[in-house]
Amino acid sequence: MSGPLTSLWQASAAENFAAPALQGERSVDLAIVGGGYTGLSAALEAAGQGADVTLLEAETVGHGGSGRNVGLVNAGLWLPPDAVCKTLGQAAGEHLNTVLAGAPEVVFDLIAQHGIACEPVRNGTLHLAHAPKGLSQLRARMGQMQARGAPVRLLDAKEVTTRTGTDRFHGALHDSRAGTIQPLAYARGLARAAAGQGARLHEQTPVTAATRHGGYWVVHTPGGKLRAKHLLMATNAYHSPTPPTRLPEMPVVQFYQLATEPLGDNLARDILAGGEGCWDTGLVMTSLRRDAAGRIILGGMGGAATAHADWAERKLTQLFPRLRGTEISHAWAGRIAMTGDHLPRIQRIGQGGYAIYGYSGRGIAPGTVFGRAVAQALLTGEEDGLPVPVVEAHREPFAGLRTLYYETGAKLVHVMAARI
Ligand SMILES: Cc1cc2nc3c(=O)[nH]c(=O)nc-3n(C[C@H](O)[C@H](O)[C@H](O)COP(=O)(O)OP(=O)(O)OC[C@H]3O[C@@H](n4cnc5c(N)ncnc54)[C@H](O)[C@@H]3O)c2cc1C
Repeated sequence: MSGPLTSLWQASAAENFAAPALQGERSVDLAIVGGGYTGLSAALEAAGQGADVTLLEAETVGHGGSGRNVGLVNAGLWLPPDAVCKTLGQAAGEHLNTVLAGAPEVVFDLIAQHGIACEPVRNGTLHLAHAPKGLSQLRARMGQMQARGAPVRLLDAKEVTTRTGTDRFHGALHDSRAGTIQPLAYARGLARAAAGQGARLHEQTPVTAATRHGGYWVVHTPGGKLRAKHLLMATNAYHSPTPPTRLPEMPVVQFYQLATEPLGDNLARDILAGGEGCWDTGLVMTSLRRDAAGRIILGGMGGAATAHADWAERKLTQLFPRLRGTEISHAWAGRIAMTGDHLPRIQRIGQGGYAIYGYSGRGIAPGTVFGRAVAQALLTGEEDGLPVPVVEAHREPFAGLRTLYYETGAKLVHVMAARI
């Protein structure tokens, strides 16, 4: 690979956003920590309801998972819907399934409503069977989804070859509710929309402490502080500590992506010509999509280590031999907060305070609807409409060890793949 490791999303985002650091003291209705989809969606909703909202971001908007992800706007979680019910209980599980089934609609509506320039494509996603056993898993998943009225259908290997331009897959589940976006541009567009509704946003403003004092939250930053009736911690896998308010340590999966230069029609006309976003059924999964400029973007589990970079380049030419020698122009990685049961949490962190985390790799549509719902709950005091029941505490045992396990497992699989 030639060239530096830089993010395609940073290079190609058509939306710009910049905000000054917080200086001085202010009293607000709602303080939000974290400028990703969760925090931004909450800010947009609360400001739209007329609340006085301030969002504080340690770096820049979209610095976390929201500016680094694959951009697949999915209608659900990693877990199939039956497993969601098994873990949460039938009523709570079906409630979450229903909320998430409608979540891509919320995302694409917001994009249209606020004119967010984030390359939205709503031609569905393909969940690709990497092996015959993957196809059986997809069949089971399809049954559960169709039982809930989802517009999903199984495509055979021939149709998948036509749609993807590679014959390496054994079939795929197509979900027409889903689609793709330029993820960083979506985050910046949400920030612009929230500011337009009157929310105040501050970048380069790390929250160093969040305390309860005199019936309010006091949120400390190097240049100033907020006195807030309500607090939302939306820091997920990129959380930096805010003592004495503590969030559980999360197991983290890293995910690596590379992008080719824009490819002309000669090379890439038949590669994902319909613009579907894809990921596969492999345990160490692979993602695949195009962007608006005609680049092919491939991702896999693992951080920015050489083993993953080498694997990703090999995988690209395995799938599309004619891309051998194609210039890789961008590569980047991000952190995914993974709960043990792959379900996100809304945790109460004190009176009038919540933290949201653990989307487990599915945070674009879920983050958008969770942020919105929590903003409503904080302003109304009504928790019934939340996508998941509020937990008072949460722990992820052996988080550090599990992080190591994920990275080592991905490395082993990617190094072994080089030998086959
Ligand atoms: C590589 C990758 C691929 C993914 N692919 C997909 C996908 O295709 N589809 C999908 O739905 N999901 C995907 N995800 C998951 C999704 O990106 C995340 O779940 C989602 O972005 C989480 O949004 P968030 O707002 O909760 O957190 P984040 O976007 O991570 O934002 C948290 C923010 O909090 C800030 N912060 C942390 N601590 C502090 C502090 N003390 N003070 C101030 N600010 C602070 C951070 O700087 C960060 O900007 C992927 C994630 C990654 C990393």
